[in-house]
Amino acid sequence: MIKSTITESKKLNHPLPDLTYFVKMTHPSSHLFEVGLQIEHWSDSVLNLKMPVWTPGSYLVREYSRHIQDFKAVSKDKQKKLLSQKVGKNHWEVETKEVDNILITYRVFANELTVRTNHLDDTHGYFNGAALFYFLPGLESTPITVEIIPPNSTWKVSTPLPAIPGKVNQFYAKDFDTLVDSPFEIGNHGVYSFEVLGKPHQYSIWGTGNIQPNKLIEDTKKIIEAEANLFGGLPYDDYLFILHLTHKSFGGLEHKNSCSLIYSRFYFRDTEKYNRFLQLVAHEFFHLWNVKRIKPKAIENFNYEQENYTPSLWFSEGTTSYYDTIIPLRAGIYNPKKFLEILGKEITRFLMTPGRKVQPLSESSFDAWIKLYRRDNNSDNCQISYYLKGELVSLLLDLLIRAKHQNKRSLDNVMVQMWEQYGKSEIGFTPHQLQQVIESVADMDLQSFFNLYVDSTEELPFNKYLNPFGLQLKPIMEDENMPYLGIKVQSENNKEIIKFVEKGSPASLEGIDPEDELLAINGIRVTADQLNERLKDHQADEIISVSVFHQDELRTFSVTLGQPQPSGYEIVQIENPSSVQQENLRGWLGKI
Ligand SMILES: [Zn+2]
Repeated sequence: MIKSTITESKKLNHPLPDLTYFVKMTHPSSHLFEVGLQIEHWSDSVLNLKMPVWTPGSYLVREYSRHIQDFKAVSKDKQKKLLSQKVGKNHWEVETKEVDNILITYRVFANELTVRTNHLDDTHGYFNGAALFYFLPGLESTPITVEIIPPNSTWKVSTPLPAIPGKVNQFYAKDFDTLVDSPFEIGNHGVYSFEVLGKPHQYSIWGTGNIQPNKLIEDTKKIIEAEANLFGGLPYDDYLFILHLTHKSFGGLEHKNSCSLIYSRFYFRDTEKYNRFLQLVAHEFFHLWNVKRIKPKAIENFNYEQENYTPSLWFSEGTTSYYDTIIPLRAGIYNPKKFLEILGKEITRFLMTPGRKVQPLSESSFDAWIKLYRRDNNSDNCQISYYLKGELVSLLLDLLIRAKHQNKRSLDNVMVQMWEQYGKSEIGFTPHQLQQVIESVADMDLQSFFNLYVDSTEELPFNKYLNPFGLQLKPIMEDENMPYLGIKVQSENNKEIIKFVEKGSPASLEGIDPEDELLAINGIRVTADQLNERLKDHQADEIISVSVFHQDELRTFSVTLGQPQPSGYEIVQIENPSSVQQENLRGWLGKI
């Protein structure tokens, strides 16, 4: 954090200023939040205001200040306009000589409905602190009061921040980090309170759909209990789930005492889709330990003005993804068979991503800021998600530890030790310290494991780790008669557009490009829907002609088709497993 010397000296000689944010929404349908910052007991000659460029949990510079308009600064008492100027994309400077009360006002356009941005319309207001509030460099630890002024008396406020006793819609944040970590939901949303392990919890649900709140609460309780059981209790006083139901969406953002979730409104009756939502709940909830308190060193203290690089997101996100799969199993939401089916699908996604051979896991984590959230049509050829590979490396580690210690130890012990050693005191861990904890639980040197599977692109040896549990990975050949071309095609406005060309595939070897418009195979028109069927009319090693428009130019390629490829992978039990293998599997997943 940037700390000016003026501010440092001020801190020594003067009391901290009082900071109060007011958030009004007079015309919600304008999508404009009207924000006021009142500063009292100010004593510096210059006031610096900075808007975060990103929000923790979503590792992308989003430039929140681009939504700010109508900035004004006045002395509150004298109502005198104060001179101000922008000195950076997210940085405002205000002259405050001999002014001790300041009122800053501005408006923030809020029409992006995601968990990490702001949304205001005539049905509700939702915001994240990083996308709405300035911080005062050097004064980040000053307490802040937030007052919400809804457009009418029927709108209520849900936030994990504590309410100030005796005040209406006023909340207390002990510092700027806490303000950023506390989303607000304002409107006529449904509020559902429940208790788990003696602590109050709440769902605040905006939007309608086929959700069944009582069932959701029962299943959420089981998830909370399973995770509390792993870590030994719940490290908060109360917890808030903000849930947005919308057209078609999926996402979550974790906080210390809350999370924001967004999901498709009609995805709650279908069991598969509902279970996917419960995995999202398990994921965001697990984060209250892993990443909100057990933090990589690089984000021990957030720098809100730039990228915060760490090679350890594979643990913060990937290991959390492994647990979002296994926790619902432990909570009785689904059975071991379903769990293995989900894992098989994750392994399929991994093995169908050629980028796994290009980008190491630690590099994927480090480059999150420029790659994971900025995908293009070559991404799958050169990147691997730290969520996905991190999940599968966590699976291997869990299996390795369990097999070596006959299930008396597991990745759970790693989580508990990380919690005891780093999480409880919120001391950031380094990659080396993480490896040390895993090695101490496994009771073995894992340097070569980390070299191969975290820091390089060696293939993950699934069968080696599944075998002690009597399991193996099996390719699924849905279309044994379909030779391999290596393109993905989508119909867009009556055009068949090639969206992906797999690196090393027959199509890529001849020079077919993503965004080419697919026209014909062997001179006859072909559509995205027909492509696979048409390929089945041919054999591997046969040469076909593929015609496309490449930037409006007609091109015809002679492509030699390849051998049929697996359409996926599944985890199956081996024939005649030994009693040790059966015992190991039971210890891991329970009775199958
Ligand atoms: Zn996550």
